[in-house]
Amino acid sequence: MRAAFHLRLARRVAANRVRRRLGRPAIPFKLLWNTTHYCNSRCLTCNVWGIYPGEGSQKDEIHGSEAARAIASLGEHLLWLTLTGGEPTLKLNVVETVNAVYDACPHLNFITVNTNAIVPGRTLAVMDAIAAHCRRAEVLAVLSLDGVGTVHDEVRGVPGNFEAVMEARRGLVALRRQRPNLGFCIQSTASRHNVDRFDELLALVRANGDEHLVTLAQEAELYRNRGAGHDVTAERSVLPGLLRLARLYRPRRVRDLVQWAHLRLLQRYVETREAPVPCSAGSSTLTLSPRGDVLGCLFLDNRMGNVRDFGHDLLRLLESPSARRVQEACRSCHQCWTNCESFTSMLSSPVRTVVRAALARPLASGPDAREVPPRVLSER
Ligand code: SF4
Ligand code: SF4
Repeated sequence: MRAAFHLRLARRVAANRVRRRLGRPAIPFKLLWNTTHYCNSRCLTCNVWGIYPGEGSQKDEIHGSEAARAIASLGEHLLWLTLTGGEPTLKLNVVETVNAVYDACPHLNFITVNTNAIVPGRTLAVMDAIAAHCRRAEVLAVLSLDGVGTVHDEVRGVPGNFEAVMEARRGLVALRRQRPNLGFCIQSTASRHNVDRFDELLALVRANGDEHLVTLAQEAELYRNRGAGHDVTAERSVLPGLLRLARLYRPRRVRDLVQWAHLRLLQRYVETREAPVPCSAGSSTLTLSPRGDVLGCLFLDNRMGNVRDFGHDLLRLLESPSARRVQEACRSCHQCWTNCESFTSMLSSPVRTVVRAALARPLASGPDAREVPPRVLSER
């Protein structure tokens, strides 16, 4: 299954290169479905949980059947589906939606679900139902874990969340015995609230033998937190911890090499504020937002259009001038180096990634040796 996935991925990357040379829009192979603004967490670094009820409710979001129709319009092009939010396991009809997309997309081989696991039973039920139906796909629960014990609970604003994540983890370990296509990994967001406690988190994840993704807190349209000072790469006080984290990371399996390269290149990004490889947001990935807007990426207000204006047909939407504009703009954007998009960007520029990651040198002088210019978030 994995070999076929990687082969198709290589073909899709090559096909998009040819399309671009011919002046045609690239067709994304990954869709990031921002399922819902509803969230039962209270994270310090993200304000999504405050969107409802002030700005409506789940009733204002597109129905799962509409989302399924739109995502399924990518057909054989779709290889990878990621669910995020809000809390995706609380999106109404989420299982039916994913299963319908799977039925319509013959090459959908990788389904990842980011979850806070505050309600472990719900996380397990959703993951089990998706894995049971989508048998030829690898189905991965991405469990958010930002610290050990009360560190996690404080960063996420929910007492008992650490124990809930551990419970979900144990449940997934047990479920995996019945569902070989089901897996999980831990995802940790480094922020000024936890970066000095990351050693114990890394030790826990390593002791458990879990796959580990590390991402960075940032300010974004998605998180409704612009100007709140959460961009850790711009905050000088946390840079030593952040860069030590990159140095401590040890790949344990082949797939970890992507995360390893991401962290190696993060050092370069922090130093230069230039994306190490062109951002492929909008070209390799598309983001579908809760109310049907299609964006180039999760982080900017780079809207291509709304699925309702294009008959829920993403291939039609991609032909629009606004989609072409967003694809071009993303390629020269340097606003972030975050794994939601950096992984696909690296996969889309494999040679440059390998060379630059291999040559990346640890910052011997340390970040304090230079002034780090503030990053300016702009909207397009
Ligand atoms: S980071 Fe995720 S879990 Fe936390 S408030 Fe934002 S959407 Fe909710
Ligand atoms: S680099 Fe720019 S376009 Fe790419 S994901 Fe980050 S904010 Fe979006």
